[in-house]
Amino acid sequence: MKRVGNFICCLMLACMLLLAGCGGQGAGAGSSDAGAAGQGAAAAKAAGGGLTVKVLDVGQGDAILIQTGSQTILVDTGDDKYYEDGKKGKANNQLFEELQKADVTAIDKLILTHAHADHIGKAAQVIEKYGVKELVYNGIPSTNKYFVNALKAAKAQGTQQVKVKAGDVLDFGNGVTYEVLSPTAQQIKDDTAAIKAGEKPDINNQSVVGRLSFGSFAMLLTGDAESPVEKQMAASYGSKLHCQILKAGHHGSKSSSSKEFLQAVKPEAAMISAGANNQYGHPHDVTLERYRKQGIRQIYRTDTSGTVTIVSDGSGYSVSCGK
Ligand SMILES: [Zn+2]
Repeated sequence: MKRVGNFICCLMLACMLLLAGCGGQGAGAGSSDAGAAGQGAAAAKAAGGGLTVKVLDVGQGDAILIQTGSQTILVDTGDDKYYEDGKKGKANNQLFEELQKADVTAIDKLILTHAHADHIGKAAQVIEKYGVKELVYNGIPSTNKYFVNALKAAKAQGTQQVKVKAGDVLDFGNGVTYEVLSPTAQQIKDDTAAIKAGEKPDINNQSVVGRLSFGSFAMLLTGDAESPVEKQMAASYGSKLHCQILKAGHHGSKSSSSKEFLQAVKPEAAMISAGANNQYGHPHDVTLERYRKQGIRQIYRTDTSGTVTIVSDGSGYSVSCGK
């Protein structure tokens, strides 16, 4: 009985490590495709080392730092205040602590996925503090105070405003690109007209979704896009969505990470940015279950693992956690 007990114990521990997924090599480390590996090696050489992506621990919100050796890009800024149990309403300065830890002194591009506080709460301060060269967003107007302040700060600092739509490709330097997959030009037009008519279109679904690619390595950054947009992208792009790493939409909410989308993206690992004890219950259990059902073995969460760092040489990748 004891030996059986030990075996079960070991099995459980192995499962927990597999699901927690931190501290190890990514399953995609080392490509089996010779052509892709060659492409990756060439890309890594061009990047003078590689690509680093950090899903920053900013509490409940998103902030993703991308360093290519040539440019520093920040996708979203986290919130200005905490919304987690026990510290609700208090000032949240985790972003600046994390940027300092990553030795960031200047930012080339700040991408705002959509006009919600947990994504753009620090945008104006980031523009003022880091002299951002380009502010990238979907061009849809908003009265959100953080959005209005971000545009004001951009104007005051001489930051160039870049409005993007599906099909645009941004150059992050050293062979790293970011292809915008959503929203479409039509959606931007429709939502802008709806706002001008006094309606309130869904803001999460306006999220700028981008496929970050370096050699044969790719990661999908989704903002808070929910299943209607995910299904639309799966239908439009199909297997072109494939990425080794998915930044889970909407903090692992059940309203995102739909089956059709996961089947198109086929990620090996999912990154969830959420605050510990957040009031929304993110990530939802049903989402984690969907990942397991789709064979996504590695799930990384900022609420339990702190900042999650991905390093790629253009073919393989490794993942490490802050705690
Ligand atoms: Zn959000």
